[in-house]
Amino acid sequence: MAKVKLIDVSKVYKGNVRAVSDFNLEIEDGEFIIFVGPSGCGKSTTLRMIAGLEEITSGKIYIGDTLVNNIEPKDRDIAMVFQNYALYPHMSVFDNLGYSLKCHHEKKEVIKEKVEKVAKLLNIQELLDRKPRELSGGQRQRVALGRCLIRQPKAFLFDEPLSNLDAKLRVQMRSEISKLHKQVQGTFIYVTHDQTEAMTMGDRIVVMKDGFVQQIDTPVNLYEHPVNIFVATFLGSPQMNIFKVKLNKDKLYFSDHIYLKLSEKTKNKMIDGYDGKTLSLGIRPSDFDIANKSSYDFCIEKIDLVEKLGNETLLYLTLPGREESTIVSLKLDMADDLKGPIYLKVNKDKIHLFNEDDESILKINDYNFIPSKMSLENDILHIDNKYQIDNFSNKCVLSEIKQLDNGYIRIASDAFKTKKLSKDDYVIEVEVRAKDVRSKSNVYFAKKVKDNIRITFTCPKDEHYELGDKVKLYVPINEISICDSDKNVLMVDENIVKPIIDANIEMYGKEYYLVTQDKQFSKNNKYLLVEKIYDLNSKMLLRVINQKNETLTLKINKNNDFFNGLMIYTKYKKAKK
Ligand code: ADP
Repeated sequence: MAKVKLIDVSKVYKGNVRAVSDFNLEIEDGEFIIFVGPSGCGKSTTLRMIAGLEEITSGKIYIGDTLVNNIEPKDRDIAMVFQNYALYPHMSVFDNLGYSLKCHHEKKEVIKEKVEKVAKLLNIQELLDRKPRELSGGQRQRVALGRCLIRQPKAFLFDEPLSNLDAKLRVQMRSEISKLHKQVQGTFIYVTHDQTEAMTMGDRIVVMKDGFVQQIDTPVNLYEHPVNIFVATFLGSPQMNIFKVKLNKDKLYFSDHIYLKLSEKTKNKMIDGYDGKTLSLGIRPSDFDIANKSSYDFCIEKIDLVEKLGNETLLYLTLPGREESTIVSLKLDMADDLKGPIYLKVNKDKIHLFNEDDESILKINDYNFIPSKMSLENDILHIDNKYQIDNFSNKCVLSEIKQLDNGYIRIASDAFKTKKLSKDDYVIEVEVRAKDVRSKSNVYFAKKVKDNIRITFTCPKDEHYELGDKVKLYVPINEISICDSDKNVLMVDENIVKPIIDANIEMYGKEYYLVTQDKQFSKNNKYLLVEKIYDLNSKMLLRVINQKNETLTLKINKNNDFFNGLMIYTKYKKAKK
């Protein structure tokens, strides 16, 4: 089994149909990963690119340590299960299972032994003599699975394998595939449009929309911390209710008089700067509950519809801030007697808030910006007269900085350590205000002691802090980025290769050229292969490879021609392949 890695993978079909854009993912050895999203979002295309059935327009795919971009599907050592089973109709189940071993000239006894072992694993021992047409849908799907399991491929790919089965069989096969994954401990990549399948089977889920990855995380984290409204409403059934509300200090107004007060926890998780703004509020049906007369959030005079589903009861009702019905899910025993006005409360620690771009404004794993004073002397950057970064010109993109009184340092929330690693570490003391539990770590929302700057930090699950705890956090100095007063990052990671060359995009006739002091690059003569683009607000850094296979870094003033020019170079990259 092997890791699978996709780097900046894109696919544009003929007719300029952009099916997949900038797909980045590292799948662990033995991981069960699911691609999910509505029809047409690019799931199958991505899977087929991994399998080699579809050419990659740009980017790189690795299976194990091998770059497979130019490797034939049959040589990629992967196994694929399709929706339509793709069994050989004229062969028996035994021969279907053993076919690939036979092609590899395996001895008869070995084939027999392996086929019988797999047949036992899938409980199809009795069917070995039958032809595919003599099998039910579920049995055929099992044979298709068996055909993959018989070899030990580097990865198993599944393209909606259960969508032709009836509902009952689908549920059964779902758990069987999960069990199989545990038994064979293989790398499984599984495509589905069914959110229940995704939520119940995968270690991690990749949610896609219109060819773009929206979020990659464990099922629990996706459900509890969706990054945008699309992910929030795609996962979970019945769907999350979304309301238009206005934030005023610590209250969310549905209408002039109806509001929800934010909980301390939610307040501490929110990104600043949204007071007075219209937001989208998300409440999952299961985060409502029956309340009593003295402490409720909503009093409902009339319920439009009640659906008793056995294990839960759904209420459909009308609330301000939303035209559609609001769905409330109650535990069975609570919904037994629902006459007259009912009082509802909301679990306010579990609400979701999104800005006008539909993005969550509850912090997840993000960057902290800490105001700092900086000065540069003899190529050493001093931060707050306490810390220093040596050889600064090698790491900084704007050599003109000498002194920054109102700059920021940027620290990723997962860069903080709770133990000192070196005497040069950057140190900050914070007070814990709220906590989120994630599958692999805990996220704490805190404030810097003394000056109230908000800090988010993550730490391993076995380290616990309570609200009000004071914690000292340490960061290795090389994990700090320097930003100007507009929070533009002035440093780039060490992958940036010196020298940084100033360049411009210029147009001559109909052609765009990238022009540096001593060279012009165009699509026809000297070409450049664009490896990476850094967006630094007013400028762009382009890491490129020239004909001599040297890496250069070009710094370009951003203007409207930038992307036109860039098209040429990325286009050229495709032509070269
Ligand atoms: P999904 O598997 O998520 O349903 P696909 O990967 O099949 O989505 O398709 C993504 C997009 O690419 C869709 O817009 C689809 O119409 C388009 N597409 C898929 N295959 C081709 C093809 N062979 N030629 C042109 N467009 C295609």
